[in-house]
Amino acid sequence: GSPRFKFNLRELNDVSSISTTSIRLYRHVSEEEARAIDLIISFLKRASRNEIDLINKALRGEASPGRLEKFYNAFIKAREMVLTYLSDEEKRKEIEKEGELIIRRENGVLYVYIPDTRTYIQASGRTSRTYVGGITRGISIILERPNDRPILEGLMRVFRYYLEEPWEELREDRLEDEIRKVNEDRDLVKLAKEGRIATRIKGIGRTALFIVESPNKARTIANFYGRPSRRAIGDIIVYEVTRGDLFLNIVATVGHIMDLTMDTLGDDIYGVLKLNGAFLPVYNYIKRCTDCGYQFTSTTDKCPRCGGVNVVNKSETVRTLRELASEVDEVLIGTDPDPEGEKIAWDVYNMLRPINPNIYRVEFHEVTKKAIEDAIKHRRRINKDLVNAQIVRRIEDRWIGFALSQKLWSVFKSRNLSAGRVQTPVLGWIIARTEEAKRKVPKTIILLQSPHDEAKRIRVEVSKRLGVKSGRLEALVREVEVQEIEKNPLPPYTTDTLLSEAAAVLKMGVNKIMSLAQDLFEIGLITYHRTDSTRVSDKGLEVAREYISRAFGENYFKPRRWGEGGAHECIRPTKPWDTRTLIDLLKRGIFTPVIEITRDHIRLYDLIFRRFMASQMIPERVLYQKARILIETESIEVEGECEILEKSFSQIYSIGRRKVPKLEPNERLIGKVL
Ligand SMILES: [Zn+2]
Repeated sequence: GSPRFKFNLRELNDVSSISTTSIRLYRHVSEEEARAIDLIISFLKRASRNEIDLINKALRGEASPGRLEKFYNAFIKAREMVLTYLSDEEKRKEIEKEGELIIRRENGVLYVYIPDTRTYIQASGRTSRTYVGGITRGISIILERPNDRPILEGLMRVFRYYLEEPWEELREDRLEDEIRKVNEDRDLVKLAKEGRIATRIKGIGRTALFIVESPNKARTIANFYGRPSRRAIGDIIVYEVTRGDLFLNIVATVGHIMDLTMDTLGDDIYGVLKLNGAFLPVYNYIKRCTDCGYQFTSTTDKCPRCGGVNVVNKSETVRTLRELASEVDEVLIGTDPDPEGEKIAWDVYNMLRPINPNIYRVEFHEVTKKAIEDAIKHRRRINKDLVNAQIVRRIEDRWIGFALSQKLWSVFKSRNLSAGRVQTPVLGWIIARTEEAKRKVPKTIILLQSPHDEAKRIRVEVSKRLGVKSGRLEALVREVEVQEIEKNPLPPYTTDTLLSEAAAVLKMGVNKIMSLAQDLFEIGLITYHRTDSTRVSDKGLEVAREYISRAFGENYFKPRRWGEGGAHECIRPTKPWDTRTLIDLLKRGIFTPVIEITRDHIRLYDLIFRRFMASQMIPERVLYQKARILIETESIEVEGECEILEKSFSQIYSIGRRKVPKLEPNERLIGKVL
C-alpha cells in the first residue's frame, strides 16, 4: 500500500491531524478562511515542541492556550472548515478530484486518507544509492488494493510536485530485465568498494565547472542536486554538487565580462580600429563603480562619471574562473540560449582555454533538471555565427547609438537624452505612421443599441461623416447570415506577442515584463522568454497533456506543434501547474524558488500559462454572423462571433475575443455617434 495518513474525522483534535487535513483544502477555501491556514503554516514553521504540546492540550480542553490563543483559534477554525467542507457532497467531490485527500466511510465512521508523499520519497530513495560511478538503479514497487487506487493516484500526483520523474505501470515481462539492470549496478558498487571500478568505467568521478551568467540560475540548478555546499572565492559563490559520476562546481559570471572599449585609441571609430580595410573591435574587461553604479570599459581605474576609485573589475571574475577551471576535468558553459549568452560563452572560452582546453557549451531553454541533464549530454562547440551576430550588434550600438546621442546632447543641451540602433528607426516608423493617419478620412464610430435591450449593443465604424452628428440615428438590420464555424486557439507566446499582450492586459512596461519573465525563467517556471519561435517541444506537449486531461478531460487535448525545427521554443510553462496550484505549492513550501515570488510574477505566469494551455486545446464551434445594417442612408457590414456552441479553450483564455450580439432581419436599432 502507498504510505498514507489516516484520521478519524470525529477525532480531529491535535495539531498534526488538523494541519495535515486543512492545508490540503487551501485552494478550495475562501481568502478569509485561507488566512487561518496561513497562520497554521507559520505556526508549524516556528513552533517549539512545548508550544505544539500546549496547543494539543488546549484542543483537548485540558489547558488554556494563553499567549498562543491566536494560533489556537486558527486551529479551531481550520477544524470547522475541514468538517464543513468535507460534509458537503459537492465540495468533497471537488476536493477529492485533486487526489490529496480521500474520504472513506468505514463501519459508519468517516475517515480521511491522505497520501504521504514525503515518506514515500524517502523510502523509495533508499532503493538506490550514490557511489563514485553515479547513482545505482533501484526499483520501488507499490502494490495497492483496487479500492485504494485513488490514494495511489493522489500519491503519484503529489510526487510530481517534488520530482520530475514519471511513473510507470509495472509489467511482469519487464521485471526480469529491470532486476538484471539493478544487479549490474550493484556489481559496480562492489567493484568501487574494492577499488577496481576504474577498469570498468571510463572517466570515473569526473569534475566539471558549470558556468552560467546569473546567480539565481546558478542557485536554482545547484538545488536540483540536493542541498549544495557553498564556498566563496572573493565575491563569487561556488555551489558544489554531485551526481555521483560527475561533480559540478556551479558559478555565475554576473552578466558580460568583456565589452568594446570606451577609450580613445587614436585612429578608432568608437572602439573599432580600421586596419588595412578591415574593422577591428577592441575589447576590454567591464568595470563597475560601486559608488554610483556606473559601468564602463576603460583602462582607467577611476569612475568616468563620479570620479570614484571604488571600482570592481571583471578581470577578478576571470581570475576566479581560471582558478576553478584548473581544478576540473572540463568546463561547461550554460549561459542563456541567445547571441548575448553565446558571446559571454565565447569570452569565457577564450579566457579559460589556456588553463583548460576541455570547454563545451550547454544549451537549455528551461531551467529544469531534465533540461540541464539533456544539455550536458548534448554539449556542443561555441556557435561562432551567433557570436559574430552579437559583435556586429554591439558595434552598431556604438556607431549608431553613440553618434546619435552625442548629436542630441549638443542640439538639446541635455546629456539625459539618448538615441539608439533600435529606437531611432522605430521613431521614424511612428512618425511615418502618424503622417499617414493624418491623411486618412476620419471615421465615425457609432454605438448601435436595441431599444428593448440595453445590453444588446454593437460598435461600428462608418467611413464618411453622416449628416447627423449628434442625437439619435435610425438603423435597420437588412440581412443576417449565420454560419457555424470552427475556431482555433492562438499560438503560444513569442517575445513580441507576450510583450504586447502583457503590456495591455497587466498594464506593465516592457522592461518590467522582461525582468519578471527573466525571473520566471531562472527559477524554472517558464521556457526562455527571448524567442521568436512558437514551436512546442515534446516536453511542452507533455506538460499540456498532463494539465488539460486533468482539468478538462482527455478529449479536450489536441497537441499542436506550432512550427518545426530549431532548438528554439515558444514561451510556455515548464510544469503543469495552474496559478492556483502554484500559489498553493508556494504557500505550503513544496515549491521553494531561490527568489521571492511577487504578485506581478504570478500575474505574468498566469497569462503565459493560459495562452499556452489554450493553444493545445481542441477548436471551439462558434456561430459566426455576417449582417448588413442600414444606418440612415449608409449601408455597412458587421461580422463576428455571436455565440460559442461548444466551449473549449475559451474556458481558460479569451483575451481580445469580442462577441457581437445576435441580430434579427428587420430588427430596428438606435444609433449614437461616439
Ligand atoms: Zn562612479
